[in-house]
Amino acid sequence: MLNLDIQKIRKDFPILNQQIYNKPLVYFDNGATTQKPQIVIDEESKIYSQENSNIHRGVHYLSEQLTQRYEDARKTVQKFINAPHDHEIILTSGTTESINTIAYSFGEKYVNEGDEIIISTLEHHANIVPWQMLCERKKAVLKVIPINDKGELLLDEYQKLISPKTKIVAVNQVSNALGTVNDVKKIIEIAHKNDIPVLIDGAQSVQHNVVDVQDLDCDFFVFSGHKLYGPNGIGVIYGKEKFLNEMPPYMTGGEMIKKVTFEKTTFNELPFKFEAGTPNYVAAIGLATAIDYIQELGLENIAAYEKELLDYATEKLESIEGLRIIGTAANKVCAISFILENIHHFDAGMVIDKMGIAVRTGHHCAEPLMDRFNIEGTLRASFAFYNTKEEIDKLYDAILTVKQMFG
Ligand code: PLP
Repeated sequence: MLNLDIQKIRKDFPILNQQIYNKPLVYFDNGATTQKPQIVIDEESKIYSQENSNIHRGVHYLSEQLTQRYEDARKTVQKFINAPHDHEIILTSGTTESINTIAYSFGEKYVNEGDEIIISTLEHHANIVPWQMLCERKKAVLKVIPINDKGELLLDEYQKLISPKTKIVAVNQVSNALGTVNDVKKIIEIAHKNDIPVLIDGAQSVQHNVVDVQDLDCDFFVFSGHKLYGPNGIGVIYGKEKFLNEMPPYMTGGEMIKKVTFEKTTFNELPFKFEAGTPNYVAAIGLATAIDYIQELGLENIAAYEKELLDYATEKLESIEGLRIIGTAANKVCAISFILENIHHFDAGMVIDKMGIAVRTGHHCAEPLMDRFNIEGTLRASFAFYNTKEEIDKLYDAILTVKQMFG
C-alpha cells in the first residue's frame, strides 16, 4: 500500500508545475540536484525579509534569534543522521567542500610519505581529486577498489588492498553514476578491524534511505543540502569528535579562533574550528526545513515508493532493443544509467529534452568509472518521490522516438 499521496506532494514543488517546449516538465535529473518544496523557499525568503542578521557576533535581538535558529538547524542535522553530539556536525557549502576539508585536514595530521589511501572505482570526482592532491603533497599512494561488470565493489579485492600503511578509506554509500548501493557497513567493519578510519560520501544516499552514523560506525559522513530537497550552498560533515579535535583547521579567519595576536592564534572549539567566516545560515535553516519536510513524509515510505519506480523503469527500459543499462547491481537506488546502441548520449539527451524531459548526459563527474566500462558517458534518469510511473512512460516513448530518428 502506497503511503504517499504523490499528486498532493507534487503541489508542494512549484517548479514541477510548468511546461517546457509546451510539454509538462518531467524532471529526472534528481541525482544532480533535487527540487525544493515551497516550504523551503518560503523559509529562506522569510529570513531575508524579516530575520536577517549575521550570527554568532551580535548581542542584539536579530543576531541572537538567528544564531539560535542556526544552532537548532545543526541539531536537526545531528538527529537526522543520529550523530552522538551536535558539535560533531560541521556545516560547509556542500559535499565537495566537506571532502576537501577532511582530505586536507586529516592528511595534514595523519598522512605521511609512503602512506596509502583507499577509494573506489565508483567515486565522484569530489571523492577522488582531493585525495589525489593529498597524495601528491605527501607522496602517499592512492589505491582503488575495483568493481565487477554490474558495478558492484569487489570486497575481497578491497581486503587485499588494506595494509599497515593504509591511513583512511573513503567511499560513497551510493554511486551517483550507476545507483549502486555499497555495503558500507561491511567496508567500515573491515577497515576498523585494521584500525583504519572510514569516510562515507553520502551525497546520494541520505535522500533515499535512513542513515544512522552510529549504526554504521563511520568516522566521517558527508552530504549536500541541495540533493536533499534543501537549498544550495549548504553541506555537512559529521566527524567523530576524537578526529575533529586532533585535526587542524582547513580554512582560517573569523569565527574559528579563540584568540588572535600577531604572534600566534589559538583555535575555537568544535564545531566552530571548522567554520571560518560567515556561514550560510540561511541555507542551514532551509536545510533543516527540508529535513523536517522529508521526515514528515517518512524516509521508509520514500524508499518503498522509489523502489517501485526503479523496478518499473528498469523493466520498461530493459525491453527497448539496443538499450543497455550500465550498472545492474543487486542493490540500487532509483537511478538508471544507460546507453543506446549507435546513438551518442548527447544527441539522445537533446531530443529527449525537446519532449520536456530532463535527463542527465555525460560522464557524471565519474570519468574513471566511465573508463572502466570503456564508454564516454551515459544518459541517466534519476528519480525522486515526486516522480510518477506516467512520467517513466513518457521517457520510454521519448527513447523510442530517439531510436526512430537516429535508427
Ligand atoms: N559525491 C557524490 C556521490 C555526488 O553525487 C556529488 C554530486 O553529484 C558530489 C559528491 C559532489 O556534491 P556537491 O556538488 O554538492 O558538492
